[in-house]
Amino acid sequence: MKSSLKLGQIAGIGVFVHWSFFLLLAWIIYMGIAAGETAAVVIGGVGFILALFGCIVLHELGHALMARRFHVQTRDITLLPIGGVARLERIPRDPTQELLIAVAGPAVNVVIAIVLAAVIVLFGHVDQLGTTRLLTGQFLARLMWVNLGLVLFNLIPAFPMDGGRVLRALLARRLTYFQATRSAVTIGKIIAGFFAIAGLFYNPILILIAVFVYFGGQGEVQLARLRELVEGMKVGEVMITSFRTVSADAPLGSVIDQMTNRWQHDFPVVNEAGETIGLLLSRDINRALKATGELTTARQWMQSSYEVIDAEAPLEQSLHKLLSGAAPVLPVFRNGKMVGLLTSQHLKQLLGARLSQHGDHLRHDFSHSMCVPARSPISTVHHV
Ligand SMILES: [Zn+2]
Repeated sequence: MKSSLKLGQIAGIGVFVHWSFFLLLAWIIYMGIAAGETAAVVIGGVGFILALFGCIVLHELGHALMARRFHVQTRDITLLPIGGVARLERIPRDPTQELLIAVAGPAVNVVIAIVLAAVIVLFGHVDQLGTTRLLTGQFLARLMWVNLGLVLFNLIPAFPMDGGRVLRALLARRLTYFQATRSAVTIGKIIAGFFAIAGLFYNPILILIAVFVYFGGQGEVQLARLRELVEGMKVGEVMITSFRTVSADAPLGSVIDQMTNRWQHDFPVVNEAGETIGLLLSRDINRALKATGELTTARQWMQSSYEVIDAEAPLEQSLHKLLSGAAPVLPVFRNGKMVGLLTSQHLKQLLGARLSQHGDHLRHDFSHSMCVPARSPISTVHHV
């Protein structure tokens, strides 16, 4: 994530801030100065935005920690000018779990608002609770109202915002997962249209959110369709069992020979004892050849940290990882032993075949549209 700066780590989850967030701060400073405000007012404005985004980090942590209860890990949390994004590695298919994860974020803001209200009352400023002057009101009172605003805004049923996820989870009790997603996304797109129009007149950030809702929803419908196609299938049923490995000390020149005229472009790397110690990806082979030539060894260019999947795992768990390009190949293990490979290319062929069985086609822009959930992934949750 070169476009983001790491702020730190909370509960084992990296918290990042995207560079464009600093544009928001610069814009606030500029607007303050242009309006002839004093330095104290401008600094207060920046401080308020930082406090607000602190609350948004806590909101995302609410999602992440609830997801952890269902054994779903969060890759990272990133702050953008339009809000926060928690990248969960997947969204549970169980509607109740999705509902609880979606609700956990706004619930955090409810708690923050209650705590702030209690603090304001304790310090004897009850009169300030009713302040609705967002620009000049007392700091804590403003923060309390903004937190309540976050709750209401996020519960708007514009999938993939939190409220949209709640809606899908409720619909999924009566409809299939795909039908529920499609209905939630259609409603989300209509709301996105209103956001875009409102954005033209009130706040341009709404236009960005409309774009996010539109494309995020689009990507999720496709993913739900693909999930439906592989429903009930296990990784072990479709993995490739006939594949080649590369010895760690093999020169890359010899690997090239294996790549020619074969389907396999990525290779597990094994040591003398036959244990898998890394993955050699075709993109790294090409880079290595340009940088160091054919004599360089597999060991020097292999990825020693990589994801694996269990042969008994549902195939749908690996869909997102493989199709988004997050992992071009997944080694498949059974009882601690590597028994196969699952590659994105192979998976696309399988999905293409299943789609045509259903009289449908794999769209040409398939990999492209799958990038929508990849970058701001399936599990994206977000808010202003
Ligand atoms: Zn949220």
